[in-house]
Formats: sequence, C-alpha cells, structure tokens
Amino acid sequence: MNAYSEDLQKIESSLDSLKGKEYISEPTVDFFRNITKAQYEIKSQLCKEEIPFLLTDDEIKGKMQNGIPMITWDKLPLNESYLQELFQEICKIMKNYEENESGNIQRLIDAEKSGDIKLNNLVEKLFQHDSSYFKTLSEDLKVSEDILIFVSLNLAKPFFETAAEKIKDKIADKVVMDTIWLKNCCPVCGSSAQLAKLEKEAGKKILYCSLCGTEWRFMRIKCPFCCNEEQKSMKFLEQEKSPYRIDVCEQCKRYIKTLDERKGGDEKRAFIPSVEDLATMYLDIVAEKEGYERSWFFPPSVDELKAGGESKTLH
Ligand SMILES: [Zn+2]
Ligand SMILES: [Zn+2]
Repeated sequence: MNAYSEDLQKIESSLDSLKGKEYISEPTVDFFRNITKAQYEIKSQLCKEEIPFLLTDDEIKGKMQNGIPMITWDKLPLNESYLQELFQEICKIMKNYEENESGNIQRLIDAEKSGDIKLNNLVEKLFQHDSSYFKTLSEDLKVSEDILIFVSLNLAKPFFETAAEKIKDKIADKVVMDTIWLKNCCPVCGSSAQLAKLEKEAGKKILYCSLCGTEWRFMRIKCPFCCNEEQKSMKFLEQEKSPYRIDVCEQCKRYIKTLDERKGGDEKRAFIPSVEDLATMYLDIVAEKEGYERSWFFPPSVDELKAGGESKTLH
C-alpha cells in the first residue's frame, strides 16, 4: 500500500463518520467520496512518475523571503491524458449527483470535445486567479460559473497537491515559514484559504489552502481575504456546543470557518480540511443568512472592495 492509498483510506473513514448525521445527506457525502477517489486515482499514477522539481533549497528560501509562492506554471506536473481522464470522471459523477445541472454539464463536455475549451487552460486560469476569464467563459458557453470553477478546481487539485507534497519536504525550516510568510495566500501555490484552525497550545492561527492543501501560519486578527486589520470590523459568530466558529469581515463581507481546537473537535474524526469543510456545511448556511459571502476560490477584487466601501458610506 502506498502513501496515497493510506491517505485515501483516512479520508474515507472520516467520511464514514459523517454517515447518519442529520446535517449532511448521504448522497452529498458519496458525491464528495467519488470525486476524491477519482483525484486519488490520478495522484497514485502521478506518484509513480519521476517529477523533477527544479527548485533548490536556496531558491525556496529566497522565494519565501520575497513573498513569492513556490509553484510556477511551467513547473507544474500537468499531464494531458490524466487531465482528460479526470475531467470525464468528474463530469460523470456530477451528472449522477445533480440531475438539475445535467444541461450545464453536458454543455461543458461538448465545449471540451469541440475544442472550445482546453482543460489545461482552465487549470492555468484558475492558478492565475483570473476570475474574469471564468465570468466570460460562463457567458460564452452558457455553463454556470459555479460549475466551471468547481470542475476546474477539482481538476487542478491532484496536480497541485502532488507538487505541494514534493515541496513540503523541502520547506524544512518551519521557523522561516512561521515568521516570514504570514501572507493571506498560500506559500506554495498562491491561492486563498479554504478553512482555518486555532491551535490548542498557543492559539496560533493556521490557514489551509483551497487548492494544494498546504497549511501556513497567519495573524489571528486579520481578514484572510482582504487583509483588513481593523479589530472592530472583524468578529466571529460562535455556535453553541460546536468547536467551530465563523470569522467574518465587515469590510469585504467574506467569512471563513475556523476550528478552535481549544474547544475540542470531533474525537472520532481526524482533521482533514476538505472533510471538515463538508462536515460544517451547516455553518455556510448560517453565514449566508447573516449576509456574508464565502470566498469561493477568488478573493474579492479591488473593484468589489471599492463598491463595498461606497455602499458603507451611503448607509
Ligand atoms: Zn496552495
Ligand atoms: Zn475582509
């Protein structure tokens, strides 16, 4: 058994522990399980291949010190036939799960077949955080933006996770990592956070990358999306008896779910950020009801922030 099948087993048993919970349906858990399995199939093939990672230890340190994420597009171990295989599989799983969306998904499949979209373009634009590309593509193809981003993100994940695992071994200097980076984007791929955790011991805040899974340290009172540091416009919504809270920012109106380890966790479940995100879907509903938006992969743009500021002065 290789490391990848062990990781997959951990995720699967974590998912098993969600069975029967009233706040998450079984088809949703199965949907997530199937997507994860398809990604691990690609990861287990990728790990058999020699991926040359061309960064030296000094280059890594230099990038960290200059605030530049490690992965550059030309160094990503992207493979066209794996992309194809995963795309077909993701679309099939989505069609089975979301019958209402089958038109959207079929249009996406057709666009790929006819050459109107290229899979590596989807991954590249996602990596470059080019949200306007997805907006325009959504209008051109008549495929909802949510679906385009979901497919692109899940298509990209195994490649970025594999690259991040290679780099992780090289970032041996945790001190550098903890004191120099402290940015609102991932040190490995430059993406924004999916989830946060406050560590048990010193209450250190850790963010988890939504694309490559890397974790990094961040300031406790600072918005991980717009970098607002004004204490009075940052608050958290606590949930009774839950170790989770929702950290919200009044400046950009985004939120992030945060596990406060000092309040415990689900003892039966290992902490796997993607599974935790799924297990706490009820908190997304709470946050949205309160008027906060999730930062679905793309942090708020400068224009959005300006618009937010203007509307504040009108009130
Ligand atoms: Zn990352
Ligand atoms: Zn913010």
